[in-house]
Amino acid sequence: MDSPKKLKRYRREDPKSSSDEEEDSYEPYIPVKERKKQRMKQILKISQDEDASTDSWKEREQREQEEDVQELARKNNISLLDQHTELKKIAEARKESELEKQRREEKRLLEAVAEKRALMGVSELARGVQYEDSVVTAWRPPRRILAMDEKRHERVRRKYKILVEGDEVPPPLKTFADMKFPRCIIKALQKRGIEKPSPIQMQGIPAALQGRDMIGIAFTGSGKSMVFILPIIMFCLEQEKKLPFMGNEGPYGLIIVPSRELAKQIKDNIEFISKFVEADGMPELRTSLAIGGEPVAAAMQVVRKGVHIMVSTPGRLIDMLDKKMVRLDVCRYLVMDEADRMIDMGFEEDVRTIYSYFKAQRQTLLFSATMPKKIQNFARSALVKPVTVNVGRAGAASMNVTQEVEYVKQEAKVTHILTCLNKTSPPVLIFAEKKQDVDLIQEYLLLKGVTAAAIHGGKDQEERSAAVQAFQRGDKDVLVATDVASKGLDFPGIQHVINYDMPDDIENYVHRIGRTGRSGQHGVATTFINKANDESVLLDLKHLLIEAKQKVPPFLLMLGGGEDDLMAALETNEEDERGCSYCGGLGHRITACPRLEAMQNKQAAGIGRKDYLAANAADY
Ligand code: AMP
Repeated sequence: MDSPKKLKRYRREDPKSSSDEEEDSYEPYIPVKERKKQRMKQILKISQDEDASTDSWKEREQREQEEDVQELARKNNISLLDQHTELKKIAEARKESELEKQRREEKRLLEAVAEKRALMGVSELARGVQYEDSVVTAWRPPRRILAMDEKRHERVRRKYKILVEGDEVPPPLKTFADMKFPRCIIKALQKRGIEKPSPIQMQGIPAALQGRDMIGIAFTGSGKSMVFILPIIMFCLEQEKKLPFMGNEGPYGLIIVPSRELAKQIKDNIEFISKFVEADGMPELRTSLAIGGEPVAAAMQVVRKGVHIMVSTPGRLIDMLDKKMVRLDVCRYLVMDEADRMIDMGFEEDVRTIYSYFKAQRQTLLFSATMPKKIQNFARSALVKPVTVNVGRAGAASMNVTQEVEYVKQEAKVTHILTCLNKTSPPVLIFAEKKQDVDLIQEYLLLKGVTAAAIHGGKDQEERSAAVQAFQRGDKDVLVATDVASKGLDFPGIQHVINYDMPDDIENYVHRIGRTGRSGQHGVATTFINKANDESVLLDLKHLLIEAKQKVPPFLLMLGGGEDDLMAALETNEEDERGCSYCGGLGHRITACPRLEAMQNKQAAGIGRKDYLAANAADY
């Protein structure tokens, strides 16, 4: 028998200790590509940690850092593709931090210029009165409309591109009859060629009639004056019927505007409608014009009889209030037209002073074609539960104007006007910044046989009025003017606006070209630019042209570049407003706003508001 086979025995090693060892030394397999990537990340991390610098030299450092990364990556044999991916990530992170920085800076600037004090009367301040609710009026929309669904109102607003903000906004109304105006007013409007309400009127008039405070933003020529004129006439009629105005009583309604010409035009419009009202057997409404350059006696004559409506420029009004010639004790309706202009021209403090004369709550309506953020903030400090009615972007140019921009050398500008005059038939408006240029252009045109009138602040009020009237009557084909004529003035049927020079700010440009293409008609605007113009305003112009779908000349297209990329990036976020939140220009942000800078420089130089005004006073 075979001896049993010896069992071969093995000493088993302790399995536990062996696996521990294995685990300790185990290195999982990592593909080469992944390893390189990790190494790359390590390198990046080291160089980022080293960068404990401040923002200003951070950028330079980052560039150096990228070079280091490339160098190290080369030594570590990392593929170009991987290097590229990582570098792209750094660049994106940097871009994001730049955007954040820009946003932070913009927010800070805007807060610094925002209006913080509420506008109130002295007695209101003393009593600590804060108005929480809108003024109550007897007007209501027709029952038929009230019964309609809110969706119908939304549809109407969408159709007419009316944007509204605010609580309990009244429904838009599509006829003057629905607004419950008497027949005589509707007849007066028809006489002026106004058959049905324009979009701003559809929404603005119901809001005003209901007693709501309002911010009205609409492009020039959209019919915004009627939004405040018609309700004020209705309210005054109601008051007069209840209790006739006695001598020295009033005004019940106050309209403040930045220029004398605009004040006159508004007064004429009110009187035109008042005549129809009176002819229909309703009470007479008295309107007084309180503007510089006109005798105070004329304004006082109306005040003495009892005045329903006063139209004024801030300076003259303050003077009369100060001398107690007129009081705002019974004033319950306040309109500020071209409010942004008023604030820009340094009238902000004057508006504050005027507010201090109010004795009770009033309905306030603010209007403007352009309404940058700063003014909106100011407006909110003066309004109670306001409704904002916006037709088209604030500051946008009217789509009815074909905008042409031409590069014309300084010395060729005057003669080039003649060529431009051939583009359309008269009447034509020519704008120039300087009074001397206005005189020069007028002289040249007269020499060439063109009938031209001229207005600027160097002329006295009589000359200015005569020139405007001659142009309005059609006795003159061309009116040459400084910006006195750019704000709110309504010259019928202007075919062509020529900007002899590009204004310093884009808002002014919008106001100027808004003199043509009014009431749904078409117009042309030609602007001369050359290398003397500030690049910032040219960038704003470029963006405005793009927005209005106009042809952008090649020399404007070339402007911008990198700046444009940053703007576009900022504007992709819905919260970020387009362009500058201070002045509304589309070509720059608030951090590079020339107007804000000019304003700050003036303040820093210790030039007070009065001095600033004095320099411009002649023009307004
Ligand atoms: P405004 O924007 O208020 O300066 O008005 C500009 C011009 O439009 C004036 O000549 C008005 O007579 C005219 N207008 C106002 N409302 C209307 C309307 N609903 N339909 C047609 N034209 C209007």
